[in-house]
Amino acid sequence: MTLRVTRFAPSPTGELHLGHVAHAICVWRIAAEHNAKIVVRMEDHDRTRCKSEYEHSILDDLDWLGFVPDAVSRASLNSHPSAYRQSDNTERYAAAFEKLKQVTDVYGCSCTRAMMPTSGPDGERRYPGTCRGMPIDREGRFVVRARMPGDETEVEDLLLGSLHQQPQHDQGDVAIRDVFGQWTYQFCVVVDDMHDGVNLIVRGEDLKPSTGRQWLLAKLLGRTAPFVTAHHPLLYAADGKKLSKRDRSETVRAMRERGMSREAVIAAAGVGVPGAGRQGSAAPRMSPGDPPG
Ligand SMILES: [Zn+2]
Repeated sequence: MTLRVTRFAPSPTGELHLGHVAHAICVWRIAAEHNAKIVVRMEDHDRTRCKSEYEHSILDDLDWLGFVPDAVSRASLNSHPSAYRQSDNTERYAAAFEKLKQVTDVYGCSCTRAMMPTSGPDGERRYPGTCRGMPIDREGRFVVRARMPGDETEVEDLLLGSLHQQPQHDQGDVAIRDVFGQWTYQFCVVVDDMHDGVNLIVRGEDLKPSTGRQWLLAKLLGRTAPFVTAHHPLLYAADGKKLSKRDRSETVRAMRERGMSREAVIAAAGVGVPGAGRQGSAAPRMSPGDPPG
């Protein structure tokens, strides 16, 4: 049987908060159920929003909470450069981009969101390919897009069954580089998942529409090994409040400073997690010698 590899990949744009903790509970539980290794990765491709002090604080909070990832990736993030920190691996994305250019058209696109019709089952804007054929070194503000094949995709989701998607029809050509010249989330995550051997992607249902285009992009980049996904529903805190990734109101840091124990923080995040009744698998593994609280 193929070794399952999943990842926990926060963006250091703020402190670790309850939404992260609830998601981590899902990742660690699903990994335990499928005997998967968990790689930790810092998704700091967006240099305008990410800060290294948040990275330190997120890793420290994860350690304190007892979420133990694969030791190699965790230890690697103590050093600079690290293979698990996106900002340290610009050559990796540049090399993948060179490869992409050989297998599909890439072009500069100056269209604004307003110029794109809304469509798709999830209300995503579809890019109609207006700028195909334009160079990738245009004047002014532009993104770089890659022409996506028209294939229908089928990806197995452990929680939802088969996901059938039509990325070209629903979203159009994917953005590879943003207006600041930075590699996009979609591109980095595909390249990194290939590099890290990730074949089990656990994430919230809001990212379900990304599945097909990430698979097409991966295939363009030469990926042959399939991945499966596990898209969990929106998560709710113990108090019934929705836990979104953008909700920074309840940071682990603040809860620690108030004297809350790790068990109390995990309980506050964990109640609304689907299947959280199975307490045995919900509890993350403690690291050896890690004192509770
Ligand atoms: Zn355009």
